Amino acid sequence: MKRIAVLGSTGSVGRQTLEVAKSFPDRLKIVAITGGRNSALLSQQIEQLTPRAYYSLAPIDFSPGFANTGIYRAASLEEIATLDDVDIIVVATSGKAGLLPTIGALQAGKTVAIANKEVLVMAGGLVMEAAVTGGGTVLPIDSEHNALWQCLRGESIDSEWKGQVSRLVITASGGAFRDYQIDKLSEVTPEEALRHPTWQMGVKITVDSATLMNKGLEVIEAAWLFNLPLDKIDVILHRESIVHSLVEMKDGSLKVLLSCPDMHLPIKYALSYPERWEDESMPVLELDRIGSLAFGELDSSRYPCFRLALSVAKKGGTYPAALIGADDAAVQLFLEGHITYLKIPQLIEEVIQAHINTANPTIHDVLEAEEWGRKYVQRSLDG
Ligand code: MG
Repeated sequence: MKRIAVLGSTGSVGRQTLEVAKSFPDRLKIVAITGGRNSALLSQQIEQLTPRAYYSLAPIDFSPGFANTGIYRAASLEEIATLDDVDIIVVATSGKAGLLPTIGALQAGKTVAIANKEVLVMAGGLVMEAAVTGGGTVLPIDSEHNALWQCLRGESIDSEWKGQVSRLVITASGGAFRDYQIDKLSEVTPEEALRHPTWQMGVKITVDSATLMNKGLEVIEAAWLFNLPLDKIDVILHRESIVHSLVEMKDGSLKVLLSCPDMHLPIKYALSYPERWEDESMPVLELDRIGSLAFGELDSSRYPCFRLALSVAKKGGTYPAALIGADDAAVQLFLEGHITYLKIPQLIEEVIQAHINTANPTIHDVLEAEEWGRKYVQRSLDG
């Protein structure tokens, strides 16, 4: 029995993690969950699952008659992530919320299944260092990285493994505006940005998919997870989101992973690893019905956010954290109707230009840079 803590259990990946756990009651036990502002859903989840512990950012009310005695309310996410009886922490929070608990869990030698890519983008070096010093393990849930991990399995991943791989290729659907004429992008609404062509996801990541910020962040995420230089990681346009990523070998072979675009699958792989568990509820990929799959070159001129993400990756230091804060704030302003869609990359670019870098940052430096980037964008609206 694997004992699981789910950070962000009310979000999209968190809810799907609880569904996966429900399908395997003899193998997975949810011992702790945490939620942010959706305390109504969190209280329902607690009443159904009766975990040993929970953390809630917002005040929380239980149904009259629910006896929550024996369920412990933790004081922080870090406390949940380092509970003695937790084996795997699923980090399904968004933004910077997952950073401290991820590092705490890895320092405590635990396995962290990470869906919160901002954590790796902001502080990949610190996260991977915590895994080495604490003896913890990082397993990727992000579908592309989960696919890369699966493709790399069976290859000799020792200090020489890079010698066998010439390139990682991440697929991109192109997001909600892939077929829009560029001159129409100035008028697009939040509702249009939230219509992702292939994936059902949370609100912030769906807008990040439209701008392709998400894909830029995924390149940085892959560089940290697989310890590869940025120039060994490419992105290819693939409209159907059936091929989740590709690993190009030096001998000319290409290993790819195909599956239906359904996050239950990468979540389940991370939780069942190193095994694979039979699951009749998973849709089978019927290639004969799909017929054909399309691939193409990414037109990066359509996606300034993608270029901005890659630019901060090269700069390093606290630049990626400043970008994360700026993007989070800019997407929020767009969703609230305060700025246009095209203003998102403009504001982020201003932040990058104004940022004063700290090389080799501490966790404190990273969090401070994220907050600085966020405030910079929010202030630009006032003035
Ligand atoms: Mg992804």
